[in-house]
Amino acid sequence: MQRTNYCGLITKEYLGQQITVKGWVHKRRDLGGIIFLDLRDREGLLQIVVNPEEPCFNNALKIKHEFVIEITGIVRERPNPNKELKTGLIEVVANKIIILNTSTALPILVDDESANETIRMVNRVIDLRGFKMQHNIMLRNKLTFEVRKFLDIHGFIDIETPSLTLSTPGGARDFLVPSRVHKGSFYALPQSPQLFKQLLMVAGFDRYYQIVKCFRDEDFRADRQPEFTQIDIETTFLNEQEIRDIAESMLLTIFKKLLQVELPLDSNTGKLKVITHKEAVYNYGSDKPDLRIPLKFIDLTNELKNCNFKVFQEAALIKNGRIVALKLPNSVKLSRKDLDDYNKFVYIYGAKGLAYIKVNDITQINENGLQSPIVKFLKENELKTILEKTSAQNDEIILFIADKAKIVNESMGALRLKIGHEKHLLENKWQALWVIDFPMFEYNEEMKQYVAAHHAFTAPKDEHIDLLKTNPEKCLAKSYDIVLNGWEIGGGSVRIHQADVQAKVFEALKMTVEEAQNKFGFLLDNLQFGAPPHGGIAFGLDRLAALMCNADSIRDVIAFPKTTTGQCLLTKAPSVVDEKQLLDLGIKTLN
Ligand code: ASP
Repeated sequence: MQRTNYCGLITKEYLGQQITVKGWVHKRRDLGGIIFLDLRDREGLLQIVVNPEEPCFNNALKIKHEFVIEITGIVRERPNPNKELKTGLIEVVANKIIILNTSTALPILVDDESANETIRMVNRVIDLRGFKMQHNIMLRNKLTFEVRKFLDIHGFIDIETPSLTLSTPGGARDFLVPSRVHKGSFYALPQSPQLFKQLLMVAGFDRYYQIVKCFRDEDFRADRQPEFTQIDIETTFLNEQEIRDIAESMLLTIFKKLLQVELPLDSNTGKLKVITHKEAVYNYGSDKPDLRIPLKFIDLTNELKNCNFKVFQEAALIKNGRIVALKLPNSVKLSRKDLDDYNKFVYIYGAKGLAYIKVNDITQINENGLQSPIVKFLKENELKTILEKTSAQNDEIILFIADKAKIVNESMGALRLKIGHEKHLLENKWQALWVIDFPMFEYNEEMKQYVAAHHAFTAPKDEHIDLLKTNPEKCLAKSYDIVLNGWEIGGGSVRIHQADVQAKVFEALKMTVEEAQNKFGFLLDNLQFGAPPHGGIAFGLDRLAALMCNADSIRDVIAFPKTTTGQCLLTKAPSVVDEKQLLDLGIKTLN
């Protein structure tokens, strides 16, 4: 028989009707002669009742978990409804059962929340049968569908770019693919379609997009995948604001359509909040601040530079040092243990310690009113300034870290997040914002030179072009990141469309003219053939999907992900290959 419905979609509308459903046996219960089956398909569960007088009862007796069966029966009202279940008001009385396939005992239970991730990954197919994974993968599908719809309506054209391409320096390490025909030469898997999308703008396509796999051979981190998916976008003739407007509108649309969520907008502009990179780092210690947490750094570097507390004094005097306070609201009560834990926590980020002042009586600006080991080192006017600048009240606590700015930002930034989450300070469920005006370059201590903060094709602010030569550190870029709940979900920039500016950026990156021509000749040449102003953005689809699914990890929104060490536990990739395969490629391995 043909299937008439999905199990999970049967409602009271079907009462009295005969239906045929097919799916997996999620549960089977034998209740004194009557057999109950929970039949599962991608849309949900359906309760089936098999009465002993029905000829199909014999088949029901043979059924075990995860058998694939076909059931025909009549929909009726359920005597004891199950409110937890979408189909909980009805059940189906079977009159025909066909066993389509049997199943041996499963290595893990479908939807077993307690199964550890390694076991889930080895048995990914069974794991994918579970409701959580089915929901996540289907939501991801809706997400890409809505993205395509939005971009199509706005005139974007889906154009594929190569997966076997040229290895280019900068950014992460490339995954290389040896060429059999051109022995000793390698393709690289693209880290992103960046240069191709720019060339498509030079070619006149005006608006491009692609939902595309990117490959980066980076050091592994918990939430990183060697291959991941971007929603990659590029446009011609638009400035930063105009590109951001399109990307923002896309994000607002998908949240509304998929989750019925209106992302909070800035009341002054009616758009997402925008802050500069400098403000983000100064106020939150991070270029991807989680603004659901209503805690802001209070900088006291200048105010405390002459104090007698050595740690503060030294931090204020070193180059790039800072003193930062974080005042917690009085709903947050910190125990001795909390303070000890936080002290250990900031140590991980290189901070030497965490100081605190607990305000017991604001009228007594001394050790009687302020509880803290550091009060004795601070003058009354300094304490007064601290209280004023932090607006501290009785029963509130102020935390301090003083060190090199990088250490203060990272440690206090991480502590801000920890306290925000642990002490339940989150104000909204969602908070998105733009971070703009990133520096063009950042100094890489290991390489002892400047590297591109976004990528080497990002345009500098027009008024900063001269700084490329004289003071690259001060040069700001026409770039932007979009941040959601403390995750960078996208980033992009207006690009360099003039070959001479591009050459200056390569120069700032210490690339010789020959090197630049060698590696990026195809870009530099084409920039000379009437390249239009252009720019774009790429969203990380996996992160976006994970946030929308409320998933703990991006692995929970990827059907076949890799582990944190880049292995696929299902297929066992990467694997050793035959000598013959290596010989064909002209490759000899070391071991
Ligand atoms: N290609 C860039 C990236 O992958 C994004 C962009 O600038 O559009 O980060």
